[in-house]
Amino acid sequence: MTGCRVAIAGSTGSIGTQTLDVVAAEPELFELTALGASGRDLDALVAQARAVHPKVVAVASDAGAAELAEALPECEIRAGDGALASLATEADVVVNGVVGFAGLPVTLATLEAGRRLALANKESLIAAGPIVQRARRTPGAELVPVDSEHGAIHQCLRANDNPARVERLVLTASGGPFRGRSKDDLASVGVDEALAHPTWSMGPKITIDSSTLMNKGLEVIEAHELFGAPAGDDGVGIGFDDIEVVVHPQSIVHSMVAFTDGTTVAQLSEPDMRLPIGYALAYPDRITTPFGRLDWSKVGCLEFEPPDLEAFPCLGLAYEAGRRGGTAPAWLNAANEVAVAAFLGGRIRWVEIAEVLASTLDLHDGTPAADLPTVVDLDGRARAATASVIERIAS
Ligand code: MG
Repeated sequence: MTGCRVAIAGSTGSIGTQTLDVVAAEPELFELTALGASGRDLDALVAQARAVHPKVVAVASDAGAAELAEALPECEIRAGDGALASLATEADVVVNGVVGFAGLPVTLATLEAGRRLALANKESLIAAGPIVQRARRTPGAELVPVDSEHGAIHQCLRANDNPARVERLVLTASGGPFRGRSKDDLASVGVDEALAHPTWSMGPKITIDSSTLMNKGLEVIEAHELFGAPAGDDGVGIGFDDIEVVVHPQSIVHSMVAFTDGTTVAQLSEPDMRLPIGYALAYPDRITTPFGRLDWSKVGCLEFEPPDLEAFPCLGLAYEAGRRGGTAPAWLNAANEVAVAAFLGGRIRWVEIAEVLASTLDLHDGTPAADLPTVVDLDGRARAATASVIERIAS
């Protein structure tokens, strides 16, 4: 593979900047053609564009267009609704590192353009699973997960040619900063503690999700969406009962697949997002740059333990939403975005995130995920419902 053209949506975020590292390390393989970001940090976007000279630079807000045009006269500037999604036709691979529900249009546009989607935005898969599944069937469309666990499963599944021989997917979880703490212990934890992740360096939203285990819960739904389709139809036919979560504090085993013969295949590497990003960009090849190589003299002990569902109820809530199916995962995902923002803003306590989600999930009305407008409308209603639950809890 030579000269694979890469576009990054969400370039100034954690996934975006790490993708730029991978592209810079592999100039023979990749060419950066387009950058896009929310526009909240225009200076960072301008600095990136000046360093890598993309053909197109996009911002999701209209506000920054004039400033970008002046700072980057050699680039084509796109701004406003649809600007990020328009990057899909500028590349062979689009990395979707947009945070939250806002990443959905990029996911759909990339798949519908028949391109490869390197997907770090798990929310688009969770919030609009049935719609994304339809888009995945576009000729040429390909979805390679950038999430470390799903990238691991993607690799482990390649160990066997017969999808019917897959018995279980085992997602590993670091356990986050509060692993081992009891429910009572967690009553008074603050924002700084929740943001101090022991092994992974990530953005604030996902770091809070790691502390509640909601990130793992969303990843269970993500795994079901990615690999749960019937065998032969891009999936391996597994259900929620066949997806297990195991806490593994060292974050060296990134996930595993158990086969019917009793064999479990695991993927191991340093906890560095540039590895799954490189895998998704280069698949089915591999990049040659090692972003951290395991040193077995230092790895030491690898531990595994079951998750504590009482101290971390968000994981159970995600399984519940996943089993309900339809738009329940979308509803929970929207509620979670609002609850995490309320926690980061000091309006609710950490333990109240799960309380808000449980109360809000009870309000889900079972709307089916017919099309994109339905999902967008549902997302808005879920956010409003969550806001009123927060109002009640916080007052
Ligand atoms: Mg992950």
